[in-house]
Amino acid sequence: MSLDNLKKRPNTAGAEVINICNADCSFCGYGKGKDGKAADPRVKQKIDIESLDHLLKIYSKGGGGSFSLSPILGEVSAHPDWLNLVKKIRKFKNIKTTTCYTNATLIHRHGFKKILTSGLTSMTISTALGNKEQYKRLYGIDMYDQVKSNIINIIKKNKELSYPVNINLALRIDKPYNKFFKSKTYKNIIKYISPKNISILESWDDFRGIIKKSGLPKGQKFKGLKYMNERKNTPCYALYRKLQILVDGTIQGCSCRVEPELWGGNIKNYKTLHEAWNDKQIEEIRNNWFSGKLKKCCTQCSHYEPYTNLTKKNFINKNLKKIYDKFFNKKVQIRRLKNKTRIESDIDESPLF
Ligand code: SF4
Ligand code: SF4
Repeated sequence: MSLDNLKKRPNTAGAEVINICNADCSFCGYGKGKDGKAADPRVKQKIDIESLDHLLKIYSKGGGGSFSLSPILGEVSAHPDWLNLVKKIRKFKNIKTTTCYTNATLIHRHGFKKILTSGLTSMTISTALGNKEQYKRLYGIDMYDQVKSNIINIIKKNKELSYPVNINLALRIDKPYNKFFKSKTYKNIIKYISPKNISILESWDDFRGIIKKSGLPKGQKFKGLKYMNERKNTPCYALYRKLQILVDGTIQGCSCRVEPELWGGNIKNYKTLHEAWNDKQIEEIRNNWFSGKLKKCCTQCSHYEPYTNLTKKNFINKNLKKIYDKFFNKKVQIRRLKNKTRIESDIDESPLF
C-alpha cells in the first residue's frame, strides 16, 4: 500500500467515550504528575454526543469499517450510557465491528447479558488476575474480588450465549508467570475462554517519564526507544492508521497517549471522512516530519514505528507470528503448561488498556 492510499481514508476510527477512570494504575499516566494532569491536561467529561454522531455519519458514508469506543485514558464502563452508544454505532450500516477496552470493575452495573447482546463485537479486559495484593498494587483500587467475579461471570455468560463477543484478557501481572498459570483462577477461566485469547503485556511505556520502574509489575521493563534513525524523518505509523476523536470532538493524530501537540480541528468542522482525515493541522504534522521537524512528544515516544511498516504486506500478521515464536521459544516454563497465551506487542492498539 502506497502513501497515497494511506492518505485516502483511515483503516479504522474511534472515539473516546469518557476521560474519567475509576482506577489508579501504577503503570498508567492517568491522574499523575503535576496537579494530576501531567499525562492529560483536559477537563474530565463524557463524550460530546454531537461530535460522536457526526463522526459516525461521515465514517459510515466514507465506507466505514471497525470502530473503537476505548478512551485513551479513562474507563468505558464509567459512562452510564455506554451500551446505548454501542447500539447507536451498530445502526450505521457500514460500521461492521465495535470494540473496546475495559478494566471490568464496573461491568456488573451494566448487566453481563446486556453487554454481550449490545452489538459489541470485541472486548479486551485489562486486568491483573492472580491475587489481591498484586491487583491493589497495580490497579490502585481494592476491587480484586469484584473484578474476578465480573470476569468469570462475563466469560461464562459469553460461552452460554455461543460467544457473541470476542473477549480477550490482557493481563498486567508480575513475573514469574507460572504462579498464575498454576492457580485455580487460571484453571477456572480456561473453562470459558481459550488461552489464545489471553495475553500478557511485556511492552511498557513510561508516559514521558511520568511512570517509574517501581510502577510496573514485578520483573517487567520499559520497552525503550526504537527506530532512532527512521524517527528523524519518517512519520510515525500512528499518524496514518486511525481517525481518533477525543471526548470534545477534537481530532488527535494518534491514539496512543493524550498529546495536545497532535491535536487537529474538531470533527464537526468536516463534511466528509476524506476531509477529516486530511485535517490541515494533522497533515502539517505528517508533512513536517518528512523534513525532520517532528513534535517533541514524538521524539521520546516508545510507541513509534515508521509509517512504512504499515505499507509492508502482512505487517501485522508477521509481527504476531514473531511474538508467538518468541513466546514459544523462550518462555519454556509457560510452554510446559501447554497454553497458548501470547505476549502483547508494540503493535497493539492501546499500550495499557
Ligand atoms: S490503565 Fe486504564 S484502568 Fe488503569 S488508570 Fe489508566 S485508564 Fe484507568
Ligand atoms: S511517536 Fe508516539 S506520540 Fe507520536 S504519533 Fe507516534 S505513537 Fe503518537
